[in-house]
Amino acid sequence: MAYTFLGGIHLDERKNTAAMAAELYTDPKQVAIPMQQHIGAPCKPLVSVGDTVTVGQCIGENNNALCCSVHASVSGTVISLEERRGITGAPITHVVIENDFNYTPCPDMQGIQTPLESLSPEEIIERVRAAGIVGMGGATFPAYAKIQSALGKVKHLIINCAECEPYITANHRLMLEEPEAVLKGIKILIHTLGVRRAVIAVEDNKPDVIELLEKKIDDKALISVKVLKTKYPQGDERQIIYALYGKEIPTGKLPADVGCVLFNPETVACIYRALSTGMPVVNKRVTVDGDAIKKPRNLIVPIGTSFADVAEACGGTRKKLARLISGGPMMGQAQWSLDYCVTKGTGALLFLSDMKEEIGQCIRCGKCVRACQMHLMPALLAAYSEKEKYEECEKLGALSCVECGCCTYVCPGKVPIVQYIRNAKGAINEHRRRVGEKGGK
Ligand code: SF4
Ligand code: SF4
Repeated sequence: MAYTFLGGIHLDERKNTAAMAAELYTDPKQVAIPMQQHIGAPCKPLVSVGDTVTVGQCIGENNNALCCSVHASVSGTVISLEERRGITGAPITHVVIENDFNYTPCPDMQGIQTPLESLSPEEIIERVRAAGIVGMGGATFPAYAKIQSALGKVKHLIINCAECEPYITANHRLMLEEPEAVLKGIKILIHTLGVRRAVIAVEDNKPDVIELLEKKIDDKALISVKVLKTKYPQGDERQIIYALYGKEIPTGKLPADVGCVLFNPETVACIYRALSTGMPVVNKRVTVDGDAIKKPRNLIVPIGTSFADVAEACGGTRKKLARLISGGPMMGQAQWSLDYCVTKGTGALLFLSDMKEEIGQCIRCGKCVRACQMHLMPALLAAYSEKEKYEECEKLGALSCVECGCCTYVCPGKVPIVQYIRNAKGAINEHRRRVGEKGGK
């Protein structure tokens, strides 16, 4: 029996690259590495123009809470430190490195020689922090902080392999190509968190992954595979937890508050690599797809590679490019320049020629209400937000919206519901911040 949740929608999956093995891309002439690729404080550059760097060398750090180190993804020479816009549109300092194409590894990198059992959680957490590992599924929350906050609190360790957005197959390929790295990474997390077992949650549209994992897992009491129904947004952590354990996370609370912690499989593989070889996060698995790219592919890309270089590696564009999305079509972010760079959170780049932007009106069909996984009233929220009645939006629970996009997807009236709700959330948060500031004076 496949596990599932209430609500959600069935999407045209478009997993065109599922059978395409990921290929390593090593051709960027230069990379521009942002000093902030995580939720938290930005790093301060540790290098200057003219410095030579090696692969895996730490080039950005900050001792503040919630910071993740940044490392060189190619070897070569630092040619500039400059403010550029990142994928959110905000200006960020980038370290630009000219690639010498030698890919010389940093001599300081070293794997841990002692057995896993002899390592304390604190030693492992420090390794994860130093390796700059974040939620590689796009959340970009520092992995060390997630582990720290889950210590002593969680019973259920879940590896989220749902990958429920259309097009994206990067994790699907990772599970097929590096199952040992993922399974060993899971054992590290089991040991660190002190939990008794872990569950790998996979949607039933990946039978090859399920079969392979069942063969590779050597201790089924320790690690088991649970099959989820293919439905959007099955990869949302709230929905996975509900599907597997029937637990609902109260608004404003985290998975750890109901005894669960979730990790993306690429994050887990990075944890294994950081401990076994000392290699920090320098590459990212990216699905490149969409009707405007000539050769859709799965690539393993040095962090800091420009979207233009990624497009070139896929044969260039073949139709007029109307829209470039970083991430999936439901929750990804529209990008405005091919000069932006691949970061730790870039799971997909979609090059699309279609630009349906018409805005319609609500016909009161109620489909958005039925699709909403958070049991909200999307039509009403959108209507209030359009009239800038943000207090009403707050009362209706706008802040619980996870911006999954299901409501907009099913809306026959072509109402940009998520956009309205996003605006309302921004206004509510801004109001709360101002009130907080006044209260603090
Ligand atoms: S789905 Fe669209 S048209 Fe239907 S009730 Fe919701 S907002 Fe209105
Ligand atoms: S209101 Fe928010 S949570 Fe509900 S379907 Fe729309 S985007 Fe998803």
